[in-house]
Amino acid sequence: SPTIGVLALQGDVLEHLAALRSLGAEPVSVRRPAELAACDGLVIPGGESTTMIKLATLFDLLEPLREAVRGGLPAFGTCAGMIMLADRIEDGAAGQETIGGLHITVRRNAFGRQVDSFEEDLHVDGLADPVRAVFIRAPWVEAVDDDVEVLARVEDGPAAGRIVAVRQGPLMATSFHPEVGSDDRVHGLFVDLVRSA
Ligand code: GLN
Repeated sequence: SPTIGVLALQGDVLEHLAALRSLGAEPVSVRRPAELAACDGLVIPGGESTTMIKLATLFDLLEPLREAVRGGLPAFGTCAGMIMLADRIEDGAAGQETIGGLHITVRRNAFGRQVDSFEEDLHVDGLADPVRAVFIRAPWVEAVDDDVEVLARVEDGPAAGRIVAVRQGPLMATSFHPEVGSDDRVHGLFVDLVRSA
């Protein structure tokens, strides 16, 4: 079974470890470059991307993370993790760095204060039935390059049509939190990606 790391600097790490374990993967927490090097895939959890990038720098993980993703390590970012994987951030804040690799532009806290957290049933490409998607001060994907596959869009309300799940080769990202609740099908898509990489 593949060893799948969860970047454990900050954010909701335990829920991801549990989802991966229930899918038969070998989950490990990643805080050091040596732990990263042992992974066949990596989940970057939700949390706060500005804090996560600072901690990654402090723990000397930012460059190893960039190298790993450049080298083809399958990675799955959720919410703040999506921001971490994005090549471009659009939110007015100056110069927030990312790991990058995913050819998308994200807008942080995109859904605005009125509806900063909500849930919606979403169709996700590759899954037969809709997923109950939980959004918590989530980003959306403002723009994608041609090599990025859109897996899901918001279906209802003022944000209908906004892109909230993407895949590009071995990289995957969702604006929402598939680790919340007991439905592990979205993690299953990622474990399949890791297995086929
Ligand atoms: N708003 C957070 C950020 O910009 C993301 C929120 C989340 O991961 N739930 O990093």
